[in-house]
Amino acid sequence: MTSRRPTKTINVGNERTGIVTIGGNAPVSVQTMTAGYTYDIDACVTEINRLAAAGSDIVRVAVPQRKDTAALGEILRQTVVPIVADVHFHYQRALEAVEAGVHKIRLNPGNISDRDQVNSVIDACKDAGIPIRIGVNEGSVVERKDKQTRMKELGKFFCDHRHGHLIALMIAKLEEYLDIFAERDFHDLCLSAKSMDAGVVIDVYTEVSKRFDYPLHLGVTHAGPKETGAIRSVVALGTLLSNGIGDTVRISYASDHVHEVEDALEMLYCLGLRQRLGAELIACPTCGRIQVDLFTLVQQVRKKLADEITLPIKVAVMGCVVNGPGEAEGADVAVFAGDRRGIIYVQGERVANVPENEILDRLLAECRNFQDRVRRGDAKLGDKNVRIVPPDPIGELGSGIQKIAAGQVEKLTVGQT
Ligand code: SF4
Repeated sequence: MTSRRPTKTINVGNERTGIVTIGGNAPVSVQTMTAGYTYDIDACVTEINRLAAAGSDIVRVAVPQRKDTAALGEILRQTVVPIVADVHFHYQRALEAVEAGVHKIRLNPGNISDRDQVNSVIDACKDAGIPIRIGVNEGSVVERKDKQTRMKELGKFFCDHRHGHLIALMIAKLEEYLDIFAERDFHDLCLSAKSMDAGVVIDVYTEVSKRFDYPLHLGVTHAGPKETGAIRSVVALGTLLSNGIGDTVRISYASDHVHEVEDALEMLYCLGLRQRLGAELIACPTCGRIQVDLFTLVQQVRKKLADEITLPIKVAVMGCVVNGPGEAEGADVAVFAGDRRGIIYVQGERVANVPENEILDRLLAECRNFQDRVRRGDAKLGDKNVRIVPPDPIGELGSGIQKIAAGQVEKLTVGQT
């Protein structure tokens, strides 16, 4: 991991919602967007609260119509997470959203043809003290004559790149936008440069990060359904973040947006960029040694942990004792299954040997109990003093060291002729 790239910072939110800082040394924040109509106040509030509960630090809403911005005041009263108004084409929507009290505007100046209209939005945000995200999307970069000169100049630097022309065009467009804001002396900005191609996203953000010191909002646009979009997004965003690039992220799927938040958070946890909230689950992929229905058990454990555990307890669900103990070493709570049973350990100490149909309840009970002990100060998360070395679990499940010691296992003959 490369250290984070230094940037300016912006603040999103207020005392009531809490302020999310983007850029500088602030933790990388997670954003998503509502999928429903903003004017449907009750549904919109429910969706925002659901996304916030999943861990979204900021939620964006589209405001294409007057009735959407008219709903914002009530939505802001009923929610406690910073709200961004996403504006395209109609500058009046941006002015109305600022008036309603949103905490940030997402604006594409290229979609508003009249410079005075863009300037009025910039001035309104300046007066309200709220930041703006400006960005280019691959799909909305339209080649125009007045950009050709700069694009050609930039193109020299990217002539050997397979997407050089596109990257040059996106950077030229961003420069053009930034000139508008510089003229108004407005620097409360966050930038994005999205594409649906993971390789383009990596390369364009890398170039943008070299040229501008504004915080960066990372995203792969139109990433597709979760099944494939997750890989496309995490490849691109994970690469950039591990190179120190990126200050806030939005993963976008054509499915329930709660998954966007969950996956973005998991990515940040894995990269060590956010302090994990809730349990970390390790599970084996299973193989021909499996003797319980581990896939079902893992899904049940995952769901229960999400509902019941709020401390970053490491939980391991392993299919057998062959590799389980070694791979789960360091887990706070672990179960090793075998022969329709599971042996449960808490920080290396065996606490139960239960039949398969009792594994879930007992494992969860041990997790809850361990969480209580940590809260009381009687146990420490990740305490490695006690290593997970099961006291002959193999023997307990029907074979193992005792059998070897008792001479019940034939001597190895490997290598003998
Ligand atoms: S822990 Fe056991 S069952 Fe799971 S993959 Fe490893 S060897 Fe196979």
